[in-house]
Amino acid sequence: MTKETAEQLISRLIRPQIREIKAYKVHDASGMIKLDAMENPYSWPPQLIDQWLEHLRQVQLNRYPVSDPQQLKSKLKALYDIPDAIACELGNGSDELIQVILMALAMPGQNMLSCHPGFSMYPIIAKLVGMEYHSVALDAEDFDLNITTFLDAIKHYQPAVIMLANPNNPTANLIAEDKLQQIIAAAPGIVVIDEAYAPFSSSNVTHLLQQQPKLMILRTLSKAGLAGLRLGMLFGHPAIIAELNKVRLPYNVSTLTQMSAEFALDHYAVIAQQIKDICANREQLMQALNDIKGLTVYPSETNFILLRAPLGRGNEIFNKIHHQGILIKNLHGSDALLNDCLRVTIGTKEENDAFLAALNSII
Ligand code: PMP
Repeated sequence: MTKETAEQLISRLIRPQIREIKAYKVHDASGMIKLDAMENPYSWPPQLIDQWLEHLRQVQLNRYPVSDPQQLKSKLKALYDIPDAIACELGNGSDELIQVILMALAMPGQNMLSCHPGFSMYPIIAKLVGMEYHSVALDAEDFDLNITTFLDAIKHYQPAVIMLANPNNPTANLIAEDKLQQIIAAAPGIVVIDEAYAPFSSSNVTHLLQQQPKLMILRTLSKAGLAGLRLGMLFGHPAIIAELNKVRLPYNVSTLTQMSAEFALDHYAVIAQQIKDICANREQLMQALNDIKGLTVYPSETNFILLRAPLGRGNEIFNKIHHQGILIKNLHGSDALLNDCLRVTIGTKEENDAFLAALNSII
């Protein structure tokens, strides 16, 4: 056989949908103030780190992880006030659970419906698994979800799955619960409410879980302070979770993650205090940003703030902030509604001050 080049192999073998996608880009943040990825900026007190390391002595790295860690699931359900009758599936981050859901539902002609601007991984994963992805534009003014338009889209596309981040990334706002109730009532398929930012929000819908088997809720430990662990959870009807469980790889959550997550949940007061501090920092940063002329600052129920720079200056401001050693997220060009928009994660007071100083020096 003739020796093919890598390019020839790719064009012959890799699915066209995958060749078309751009890889999710993670910027190098070494040496920078990192305000781009909605991480908790605080680490644990040294004593707690010692206790955690001691706890990890029990880990048996020669053994596979527990495939269905009941104790960890119970602790997570207790933390989020999830009813006993609801089942839980764990993922290597909630990203993986989004993939599991979509892999289970993908069939020719099946649609997924969401909104935009929205979480960038939804259309990427939908495309990867071969699902048709559709999204409804949020209101250009305040990024609110127009319920009439959304209900029309449900009627039109008859989606096998609706996925909505609430609060939404990157717009940081909530969809009112009565709108979610109308969406759930009208949906012909599964409705996933992705509550990744619930720790920073005034509202969540876990109390609706038992009303409708089609409702599923996604959560993650990433934003609360454990992004490095990669632990996401999906709550839903036990029979539906059991089907999705067939798609999940048997040892998707490592022993180190399981043990560390249990330890963190046993010491959650530390994390809860950090979340309070982040919310207080958010209010301070919000006020300071509101004082900068020319910026539009959107309300936030999350651990980040969405900003709109003066017309035509989004890229320039992002680049200059980057030049000053601060990494935020440039959303300009990612969505027609996000021209000149930047997203900044709430950091420590010092990090937020550095960001403000950089911004003030530029604008
Ligand atoms: N959902 C939303 C809305 C997000 O913004 C993110 C992270 N950016 C995730 C899910 C994924 O989180 P993880 O995989 O870290 O659990």
